[in-house]
Amino acid sequence: MSKIVYSTDPALQARCPRCKELEISCTCAPTPKVVEPPTVAKLRLEKSGRGGKAVTVIFDLPNDPAWLKELAGKLKKACGVGGTAGAGRIEIQGDQREKLREVLPKHGFKTVKG
Ligand SMILES: [Zn+2]
Repeated sequence: MSKIVYSTDPALQARCPRCKELEISCTCAPTPKVVEPPTVAKLRLEKSGRGGKAVTVIFDLPNDPAWLKELAGKLKKACGVGGTAGAGRIEIQGDQREKLREVLPKHGFKTVKG
């Protein structure tokens, strides 16, 4: 298989930002993946492709599927409609902008128009 040259592998020269040890000898616990919750939720109304139905889109969100799915679930429940989460955005069926402006602050967001 391929020959490994340890002394020139840049990955082995990298230092841990916390303990400043070489990463190969670092014993820090792995950094848990934490989503910095955004404080601003950007809303806009979009027409979806099929039949031009309106969807309310919350965009510029962290691209964390589990977090998005959880938030989308809460918002769908609050609005009583369906929706999807994906790629840093949540789509809620219909024009839910007014409802979301009431609901999102309860989850720690300010809302702005997109
Ligand atoms: Zn370390």
